[in-house]
Amino acid sequence: MTSTAKPDVIVVGSGIIGIACAHYLSAAGLRVTVIDQGTIGGACSHGNCGYICPSHVLPLTEPGAIGTAVKSLFTPNAPFRVKPRLSLAFVKWMWQFAKRCNHRQMLLAGMHLKAILDSSMQEYKCLMRDEALRCQWKETGLLYVLQTEHGMNSFAKNDRLLTEHFGVTARRLEGRELAAFDPALKPGLAGAFHYPNDTSLCPEWLHESWSQRLKERGVTFVEHCQSQHFQKSNGRVLQVVTSQGTLQADRFVIATGAWSSRLSSELECPIPIEQGKGYSVTMSRPDPCPRYPMLFPEHRVGVSPFEHGYRVGSMMEFAGFDTSIPARRIQQLQNSASHYLASPVSVGELQTWYGWRPMTWDSLPIIGRTPRLENVYLATGHNMLGMSLATATGKLIAELMLGHSPHIDPAPFSPQRFLSRMT
Ligand SMILES: Cc1cc2nc3c(=O)[nH]c(=O)nc-3n(C[C@H](O)[C@H](O)[C@H](O)COP(=O)(O)OP(=O)(O)OC[C@H]3O[C@@H](n4cnc5c(N)ncnc54)[C@H](O)[C@@H]3O)c2cc1C
Repeated sequence: MTSTAKPDVIVVGSGIIGIACAHYLSAAGLRVTVIDQGTIGGACSHGNCGYICPSHVLPLTEPGAIGTAVKSLFTPNAPFRVKPRLSLAFVKWMWQFAKRCNHRQMLLAGMHLKAILDSSMQEYKCLMRDEALRCQWKETGLLYVLQTEHGMNSFAKNDRLLTEHFGVTARRLEGRELAAFDPALKPGLAGAFHYPNDTSLCPEWLHESWSQRLKERGVTFVEHCQSQHFQKSNGRVLQVVTSQGTLQADRFVIATGAWSSRLSSELECPIPIEQGKGYSVTMSRPDPCPRYPMLFPEHRVGVSPFEHGYRVGSMMEFAGFDTSIPARRIQQLQNSASHYLASPVSVGELQTWYGWRPMTWDSLPIIGRTPRLENVYLATGHNMLGMSLATATGKLIAELMLGHSPHIDPAPFSPQRFLSRMT
């Protein structure tokens, strides 16, 4: 351990969510220690696409998602895939998920997501202005590129829904306009939608620079320190037993991402989170390299141009704690990008990666105090949007912990919502 003073708060988990919580808690004057069983920002927050995207208000629980999931049982290469496995927890999770795959629930979840996405974007802008973190923050917007007219027409419906219900607007670009917009795109594509208010950054640079800034402000980070057991008395956690010894604090924040469900019984609170595995491959910049971060909805793949490289990422596999990186999945990412980009792959070394997204069955994050332990807070379950939702999550956790009035309605994200249901 690097510090012996008792912290006010221990944050368990140093992904983007744990770091953001540490930021707002320490800014409020609390002494914070962050522990992680691995390295800082080394899990799902590491090799992702880095979009900070308020345009992503529509949840995974959309009409038709369950049909896609059922078909995928027999299609190992499906970008959205459920791998058949015997797990009662997963069956229950899927049941709750399936119940929400309808238009009404999709709009309801979208409304809650919009509030926290917008707040997060505002907070990111303040963070970038005040801290000048070195993370390749780019306000270029996000480009959704469609290969076919059919894709264009069905995306246009989505776009209309975003405008009408959520006030999220895009500029529509026809195929002939694309070469001038981004010369890395191939000729012959049907068109695109540009969401100008989205931004992007390099996730691993963000963790590096943000955690460094927090260390300078007195936040302690302890790597390779796994929380193993919480010692409790009278509805409070007194200390956490870790792989590096016992740690005491007044309060605890659990930001353990896809591992969180393992803590359900210890924390006396259902935490229905499944691992939504995705992959990415990072390489040097191809020539030409895309100017814009882009998504290709027909192939469910995203590309992220960085100053030092270029990343293709995607897939959503429900396969439990599976650590493999099949070569066919990496090939599939590259093949998908090749439909859109003149140079989808560059020469040189490829860095392959997987991450487990922390997936909840209602597509909403879990942010708030645990119902039965008065000094334990959950900040987890950020699904496909952990990067985008991190700042508002940290801010909300600090407000709830300090008894300040919350800047957004915390009720939709409360852990309380799982108590009365079959989880
Ligand atoms: C391919 C892909 C692309 C993505 N692209 C985007 C994107 O463009 N924009 C976006 O907003 N989101 C994106 N996401 C989603 C985003 O990456 C996740 O939502 C986010 O990283 C979750 O952050 P987290 O801090 O909750 O989890 P993690 O980053 O997984 O952090 C959890 C941490 O908890 C630690 N931990 C767990 N258990 C313990 C324990 N018992 N003791 C100590 N430590 C513990 C782990 O070691 C880990 O470091 C993408 C995900 C994938 C897979």
